[in-house]
Amino acid sequence: MEYIPTATGFIEPRELGRTLVHEHVFVLGEEYRLNYQQDWDEEEKVADARRQLSELHQLGIDTILDPTVLGLGRYVPRIQRIAEGLDLNIVLATGLYTYRDIPLQFHHQGPGLLFDVPEPLTDLFIRDLTEGIADTGVRAAFLKCAIEEPGLTPGVERAMRAVGQASAQTGAPITVHTNPHTESGLVAQRVLAEEGVDLSKVIIGHSGDSTDLDYLTKLADAGSLLGMDRFGLDVLLPFEQRIDTIVALVERGYSEKITISHDASCFIDWFDPQARAQAAPKWNYRHISEDVIPTLKDRGVSESDLNTILVENPRRYFE
Ligand SMILES: [Zn+2]
Repeated sequence: MEYIPTATGFIEPRELGRTLVHEHVFVLGEEYRLNYQQDWDEEEKVADARRQLSELHQLGIDTILDPTVLGLGRYVPRIQRIAEGLDLNIVLATGLYTYRDIPLQFHHQGPGLLFDVPEPLTDLFIRDLTEGIADTGVRAAFLKCAIEEPGLTPGVERAMRAVGQASAQTGAPITVHTNPHTESGLVAQRVLAEEGVDLSKVIIGHSGDSTDLDYLTKLADAGSLLGMDRFGLDVLLPFEQRIDTIVALVERGYSEKITISHDASCFIDWFDPQARAQAAPKWNYRHISEDVIPTLKDRGVSESDLNTILVENPRRYFE
């Protein structure tokens, strides 16, 4: 990609700078919000998001990749308002997030279905990547799909193959939400490769929830980047083990396969905000700058390796 679209325009890959590859701005279902979030204050939420993202930039981060797609409540006009005038680049995605079924909008339309038409998801994804999302003029820069504990269900496979086809046709890179405990990253690699995807353009997301070096190096040896991207979710894997795993991978020469992030958000409607802050106090945008980078340095990860992880790997992902 010669130029990378962001929420506010286009940048060159070298302008990405220090990049967190998996951060949401809002995870917010609009149907749910409209019906049940009666105390929603749009202005307050936008201002709060701008404050948190400005702070992230002040902490040394230049760009976030936001993989909020259909199924997670993508709404680009709100992101545009938040991104306006911010020094942080926000790079947006297209794709579909489901652990099992395809949304009802696609249930009856598609190859071999009641309305037998070419896969509509692929066309929607390509339009988002090449023309823009809805009427916002903002283009998606990368693709996202998911494979969780239920594995490659028919709905998950359909979304993943459509994402793969859109990547093969446009060259856009991919992030996959995977569950490392079921080794679903390997399934994603197989399916995406079958669709003609260049596996070096794939981040196997949530790999950082695992300490299984055999599994992780297998993914990396097949060419993909590892998403060590849930820093702060110590409830899923403690901080020390997340750090130990990265240190071990760096020692084995895998710096060029590591990306880091928090998978945090300014607001997520999945949890009560107070309960979330109590259960995962470090799950916020500040943790990598304040805790992760200093600890990796203390553990012997060099400036050069950190630059590879934070700057060069995200740049190569798009180039
Ligand atoms: Zn996420």
